[in-house]
Amino acid sequence: MTAIGKLLRPRSVAVIGASADLSRMTGRPVGYLQKHGFTGAVYPVNPRAAEIAGLRCYPDVASLPEAPDAAIILLGADKVEPAVRALAERGTAAAVVLAGGFAESGGEGGARQQALKAAAGSMRLLGPNTIGLVNLTDRITLSATGALEIGDLPAGRISVVSQSGGILGSLLSRAADRGIGFAKLVATGNEADLDSTDVLEELLGDPATDVIAMYLEGLRRPERFRAAARRAAELGKPIVVFKVGRSEAGERSASSHTGALAGADRMFDALFRQLGVIRAQSFSDLLDIPAALASGKRMAGKRVAVLTSTGGAGTLLADACGVAGFALPPPDAATAERIAALLGEDEKAGASRNPVDVTLAGVKPEVFRSAAAALLDSPSYDALVTVVGSSALAQPDLVAGAVTECAALSDKPLLVYVSPHAPEITRLLNRQGVPAFAAPESCATVLEALRRRPVPPLPKPVTAEPVPANLPTGPLNEAESKALFARFGVPVTREFAVADAEGAAAAARKLSGKVVLKILSRQIAHKSDVGGVRVGVTPEDVPAACAEMLERLRQAGAPAPEGFLVGELARAQVEMILGYHRDLQLGPAVLLGLGGVTAELFKDTTLRLLPISRADAEAMVGELRAAELLAGYRGAPLCDIPALVDAVLAFAKMAEALGERLVEAEINPLFVGRAGEGVRAVDGLAVLRAV
Ligand code: ADP
Ligand code: MG
Repeated sequence: MTAIGKLLRPRSVAVIGASADLSRMTGRPVGYLQKHGFTGAVYPVNPRAAEIAGLRCYPDVASLPEAPDAAIILLGADKVEPAVRALAERGTAAAVVLAGGFAESGGEGGARQQALKAAAGSMRLLGPNTIGLVNLTDRITLSATGALEIGDLPAGRISVVSQSGGILGSLLSRAADRGIGFAKLVATGNEADLDSTDVLEELLGDPATDVIAMYLEGLRRPERFRAAARRAAELGKPIVVFKVGRSEAGERSASSHTGALAGADRMFDALFRQLGVIRAQSFSDLLDIPAALASGKRMAGKRVAVLTSTGGAGTLLADACGVAGFALPPPDAATAERIAALLGEDEKAGASRNPVDVTLAGVKPEVFRSAAAALLDSPSYDALVTVVGSSALAQPDLVAGAVTECAALSDKPLLVYVSPHAPEITRLLNRQGVPAFAAPESCATVLEALRRRPVPPLPKPVTAEPVPANLPTGPLNEAESKALFARFGVPVTREFAVADAEGAAAAARKLSGKVVLKILSRQIAHKSDVGGVRVGVTPEDVPAACAEMLERLRQAGAPAPEGFLVGELARAQVEMILGYHRDLQLGPAVLLGLGGVTAELFKDTTLRLLPISRADAEAMVGELRAAELLAGYRGAPLCDIPALVDAVLAFAKMAEALGERLVEAEINPLFVGRAGEGVRAVDGLAVLRAV
């Protein structure tokens, strides 16, 4: 068994610093172990007590009768290190350190945490600054969370990994109230040693865990997390993550728009999307979604039947599902007939609509059962959501029983919206494995998570593209940037970089018709801001336009440019932005979005972490709101989407090949032509560094 395995399922536990007063924080863990039914050996360690809770108490670790599998250390921060050392020397597999006052407190805390890690040697540590772990499958509690005061904690198929101890207690108590059971709950705290990915990996191998809920503040080792999440997808164990920091402002990088548009939290969004990890948008989703996933049922399509015996609640539910993008078709004729047969003459109309309203007749369990069975059998629906109305308050067991029987009839998901405040019914249903919710919106959110999603394909790592020799370093000007992009296969506009007005005029004559004139500068990232772009200049006007640009630059106090760029006048159906962003935590990514000057206004962008596959690039295009523009919005011509996908891939390949050398890269705009016309980078910005 691995050390984490022993931590989750120890046969013997030492409780270091246990208090004889069970009401104290340091007294609780021994009491909780006993109360929740731990059957192994418990060794309280406290030099000032002879017996705690009927157990023999030991003065120190050295006098324990055996090396414990696991230990929970309840001592204050200043006393933890010697205890950890003694446990490690004794051969303990793993220890939980509850005390705070380590890296999270700053100052000397960081050094104290390092010393702790060193003292542990090969013994594994959970924490410090954690509330510990709870294993409800095997009824083992190595925790001081007050949520363990609850006597009746159901075991279930959901496991929790939380970087916050308080959240563990919050989920545990909320779930218990709703009848939702857990397998294991682990709070990783400061993650001096074991981190959330270590625990995730262990849980993937836990036969009692079907779904994993994670509360994350950040990821220490994104690569390991990616690998674990891929394994989870292969195993069919969904991961639901609530990641804090959604309001975090984007970290602005030096000169591109990409940094502002990317933002640390959007990078996490991208990471989760790429891995098939479900992101809980609200804290309550972190319980709701796993509870529904734990039923094991998945939705094949987007068609939902709503069954109700009360008009208002049915409408609420139908509305919430509709807003979430589900279809609510009326029952097919055969199904409507089956349901109508259960109803009185005046009520039959309700059978051919969705929500299917069985009126007060539906309060009778047998009518409800038959109607639900008809809807679950119907080929017109992928899921059934049913309302439990106020009348159920009078006979909770009967209603819950009828619903549970129906759920057993079908592989399709059956969810319940409990309309009145009826915690008892909610609890009964959840305990019987039927996901029940107190809000119609929760039902809609959960349905979305139940939709079968393909595991995103693993992108092939890029064949090591040779890095061009003699790469410049520092900020590149537009011509240099585009030359770099072109080397990796991104199409760029035809253009000439020239030193002066004379050269510009000569270049303009080589291009046919009107041209685009720009200043060429490594120091000016946004040329238009300083009057450095003129679109549609005739060759004759070029010298005067050059002089004017130089004059404006001088007046603005801008640095003298390297020269001018004279390019063909390109045309676009849609202007896009294609950028590169390196996140401090998660690494490199590409961003695609609606471009041009309004890029930061509309923020219609999407991100993927590298490496990406063609399928990823296609999905990126597809998930933009601009996808409709590219597909020919309102009679406009269809755009060259395959060429856009190629450009995204070429740009991503460049970023991978250049690796750490690439600091920034952005094309804004990337002109997308009509189908067959291709795409062109009309602007380019890159910053390279020597490695
Ligand atoms: P900036 O440094 O201000 O971003 P750009 O090179 O992006 O300057 O040019 C500003 C705008 O001018 C672009 O958004 C695009 O609309 C237009 N433009 C630039 N180059 C061309 C070109 N070759 N053909 C047509 N329009 C162009
Ligand atoms: Mg630009």
